[in-house]
Amino acid sequence: MAEERKIIVLLGPPGCGKGTQARLIAKALSIPQISTGDMLRDERSAGTELGRRSSVFMDKGELVPDELILDMVKFRIQKGDCAGGFILDGFPRTLAQATALDETLESLDLRLWRVLYFDVPDAEIIERITGRFSCVLCGKIYHVTFNPPPTKDNCECGGFLLQRPDDSVAVVTERLRVYMESTAPVIGYYEGRGRFTKILGGGKAIEEVNRQVMDVLR
Ligand code: AMP
Repeated sequence: MAEERKIIVLLGPPGCGKGTQARLIAKALSIPQISTGDMLRDERSAGTELGRRSSVFMDKGELVPDELILDMVKFRIQKGDCAGGFILDGFPRTLAQATALDETLESLDLRLWRVLYFDVPDAEIIERITGRFSCVLCGKIYHVTFNPPPTKDNCECGGFLLQRPDDSVAVVTERLRVYMESTAPVIGYYEGRGRFTKILGGGKAIEEVNRQVMDVLR
């Protein structure tokens, strides 16, 4: 019988609120948020080979090839802080990644606990992404209108706020196209298998979305 750790997958288009909710869940359940996007950005900042190879795809809004992502995730989920579970934020993003995740979990005698899909209407997505900024120090995410920072340029921790280069209107359009083509089919993959919940994120405040999320994770 596979061990029941709190292994959670968050699905949804860019800007649907996965990152913000992942941070809240991580705090509430004391399990780590594993964001493949953050990991790749860290690799890039550290100037590693993986960071250099991934940047080419990230800057264009394309997906980084599966083989670069899979080893990174497999290694990360076996670290000590994942003993009680973990939140996958931004992974899996292709059907091949979803099946590879199943195989990896099975080989470790683990299974998924919950899959949450954040449903947000297309019209809202561009406005959400192009208005978001995150703190270079603590990673907290703000939005100019929906979740404004204490001052224009700084986080509550004092860190400087920056817009991600791939949150520009031009790159976002490509990211949404890639999402529809490669990631949206992953929803169907999980939908038919139970432990799947659709969270209604459209037009809702962070706290309201978090209430829906925590109801499922109780
Ligand atoms: P995110 O921060 O999740 O929006 O990811 C930023 C970028 O990192 C994406 O647009 C992709 O280029 C890359 N990326 C992140 N996660 C994955 C993944 N699971 N598979 C492929 N590329 C990814």
